[in-house]
Amino acid sequence: MTMTFKDLGLAQPLLQATEALGFTTPTPVQAQIIPHALEGGDWMVSSQTGSGKTAAFLLPLLHQLLAKNPNNKPVPGRAEPQVLVLCPTRELAQQVANDAINLVKFCKGIRIATIMGGMPYGKQIAQIRGASLVVATPGRLLDLHDSRAIRLNKVQYLVADEADRMLDLGFQEDIEAIHALCSERQQTLMFSATFAPRIMQLAESLMKAPQRIELASAQDKHENIAQTLHWADGVSHKHALLNHWLSDPTMEQAVVFASTQVDSEMIADQLRAAGHSATALHGAMPQAVRNRRLMSLRKGQTKILVATDVAARGLDIPTITHVINFGLPMKAEDYVHRIGRTGRAGRSGVAITLAEHRERVKVRAIEHYTKQPLQAEIIPGLEPKEKPKKPMHRPGDKRGGKSFGQHREAKKSGGFGKPKGPRFMQSGKSGQSSGQKRSFSN
Ligand code: AMP
Repeated sequence: MTMTFKDLGLAQPLLQATEALGFTTPTPVQAQIIPHALEGGDWMVSSQTGSGKTAAFLLPLLHQLLAKNPNNKPVPGRAEPQVLVLCPTRELAQQVANDAINLVKFCKGIRIATIMGGMPYGKQIAQIRGASLVVATPGRLLDLHDSRAIRLNKVQYLVADEADRMLDLGFQEDIEAIHALCSERQQTLMFSATFAPRIMQLAESLMKAPQRIELASAQDKHENIAQTLHWADGVSHKHALLNHWLSDPTMEQAVVFASTQVDSEMIADQLRAAGHSATALHGAMPQAVRNRRLMSLRKGQTKILVATDVAARGLDIPTITHVINFGLPMKAEDYVHRIGRTGRAGRSGVAITLAEHRERVKVRAIEHYTKQPLQAEIIPGLEPKEKPKKPMHRPGDKRGGKSFGQHREAKKSGGFGKPKGPRFMQSGKSGQSSGQKRSFSN
């Protein structure tokens, strides 16, 4: 099942806006960031332009603004924004502001303003009065603050976009000054192409216990994750293999992936009946329930999460030692997202895939996509009765994935269903937009 913006629990006027913009499906970056940002806390994200990251931070912040003040009445005459987005360049500030204006089209009373060098002061001062969200370059923002044209003490949410570029352009002191002027805020999000040490230092100084979201690329080797395949004769054999792995003494916490929402509930029920501490997580659950279950996993109260792809995207819990693919992913790219739930923060992890012989085309598609073979292994006493009919292909073999249409489409459009218009590569280091080339000048 494809994820929608509605699954992310966003407010109606924002859903209307995404629809009007023709955004049918959240990009992988959005699917990952939006739930985290809504959860609260400070987040440090490594991401690329062209991945849909602007809407990924604007949507959850606008959602929170709407939730706090549904009729969001602007205060005439006051220049006291609640959301502040810092950008390194005028061009980026303008783009972000334009995206924000498009996203608030159906929100009552939320006004957007831009503050940047090179624009007449008078016009900017008039514009920022009554604006809830201000997009700014750091230097001009501080100028306006010093001349008392804007107050920053009501800022609740601060975003530092393209933080690495802001450091390159010498904005470190300005950013730190702005940080001090809105120290009462409740959330800070920081975006950067890398997690280089200087970026991490800035993150530490701006944020409280920042958590990281690292958007991985398809062909990452995942050397710290031991990937294994077990051929299964059917569902009950899969259950026996699942039980074997969940009883592994090295298992701290596990995510078991199911193909459907119904399956996730059923597997969780069966695991609980077998004495495991397990809970289901899927997109049909109200956001509050999802948050509670995730919190319980994060606190270690739940050991096993049985999830669908949509629900588990972006899950970042370092104590997850095992990922088990009980149902195979619909798209080969989801395999990479799934296994990335373990082996986090420099730890090692185990990723087990349980496949029936009739699913071997999907297994090949995964191997083709990751360009790595999946090593089939046997557990004594749990051997499959049937042997695989054809030898597995070599990774990179063109035949892999031929009849796995979803996979081919995922490769074409980055897997979020917008074949025309801007193309998205996999989120991650190589994830540059091929349709969106921006030139930055200051
Ligand atoms: P960004 O990475 O934020 O610069 O976004 C790159 C481009 O993708 C912009 O033109 C956005 O309007 C567009 N975009 C963002 N999210 C989506 C989506 N979910 N579906 C289609 N296009 C999108």
